[in-house]
Amino acid sequence: MSDCIFCKIVNGEIPSNKIYEDEYVYAFYDISPEAPVHFLVIPKEHIKSANFITKENSNVVAHIFEVINKITSELGISEDGYRVVNNCGVLGGQTVDHMHFHVLGGRELKWPPG
Ligand code: 5GP
Ligand code: ZN
Repeated sequence: MSDCIFCKIVNGEIPSNKIYEDEYVYAFYDISPEAPVHFLVIPKEHIKSANFITKENSNVVAHIFEVINKITSELGISEDGYRVVNNCGVLGGQTVDHMHFHVLGGRELKWPPG
């Protein structure tokens, strides 16, 4: 989508600190980290939010979790633990309308969120 900042990150129009990329997904560090490790994993395809996951496109979500497993292992945070967050819609706190999964780690995270 032409006016989507995450689509622009995927196609290189907006620079990012990339961690991983393959045919289906792109992972990069969050510009405003909330934890010592904070990165985002997104589908390359523009999916607006979790509300738009369908039978046809849901494979990418499983793949995203495989990629999260790989990256957290490589970054050395998988044994201590980490959190995966998907904010969906206005009340869910979604500010960028291209579905993304936050991965936060490197410190103890409180639960429940505010
Ligand atoms: P949301 O609030 O939609 O769940 O999360 C959007 C996230 O994207 C925020 O944590 C924000 O810091 C991050 N973000 C927004 N714009 C950019 C950008 O241009 N580059 C990077 N790396 N992260 C961004
Ligand atoms: Zn997009």
